[in-house]
Formats: sequence, structure tokens, C-alpha cells
Amino acid sequence: MKVLFKELRVSTTERVQLIDVTSDVERFIRDSGVRDGLCLVYAPHATVAMIANEQESGLLRDIIEKVKEDYPKGAGWSHDRIDDNASAHLASAFIGSSRIFPVRNGSLVRGTWQSIFLMELDGPRSSRVVVLEAIGE
Ligand code: ZN
Repeated sequence: MKVLFKELRVSTTERVQLIDVTSDVERFIRDSGVRDGLCLVYAPHATVAMIANEQESGLLRDIIEKVKEDYPKGAGWSHDRIDDNASAHLASAFIGSSRIFPVRNGSLVRGTWQSIFLMELDGPRSSRVVVLEAIGE
């Protein structure tokens, strides 16, 4: 069994922003030599989420607006007393900071309309990390 690990570095320019990392994940799988197994895509941050959905500019705006609406900044959250970013923590906690994809025949298995995005929730940040781990043979 093979286990391969890689860290991507991503910088963000907006408070809430979607960064497409699909090509990086697919390149990692191609280079890993893993034919059949799993690929973990994980952001080791408390104010980032990982999502898989369609790369369409209107939809990306909709996702960002929906997150801002569901987790409004400065809505009296307790954590804002010390850090002023409770909305970002809440969105990360409920959306989730990882996704797992099957790997079959050396390729990532994903839907045609499923690109992989890091979702920045407390940007801009100069260095966000996405951990990739491929497990399989
Ligand atoms: Zn905080």
C-alpha cells in the first residue's frame, strides 16, 4: 500500500473567497502513482472550509452570499469578544474542513460539476495550507 502526502500553499485576497484547487489535486494523484484508493483533501485551519461543487461564476457568488447570510459577521457571537471572527469559525465548523474522493484507475473520481475549492472564511491570508493525502495501491 502506498501513502503519499503533499501540502499546497494558497493565498487569498478576500474575506470570503473560493479558490479552485482541482488541478493541483488531480496532478498530485497522477504523480502519486496510486491507481486505486482514496484521496483526502484537508485544510488544517479553523476558519477555512473545503467544498466540491460547480465552477460557475454565478454559483460561486451564490455560495459566498449564502455563507455570509447564514453566518453573518458581527451578529453578537460570543467569540467576537476576543477575536472578531466567530462567523468564520462557525461556517468552517458546519461546512467542514475536509473532503474525501475515491481514486480509480489512477484518476480522482468526481462529478463533471464537482470542482474542489478551498473556501476562505477569514481572509485575506498570505498562506493557507491544503493537505493532500493519497492512500491506496
Ligand atoms: Zn477566532
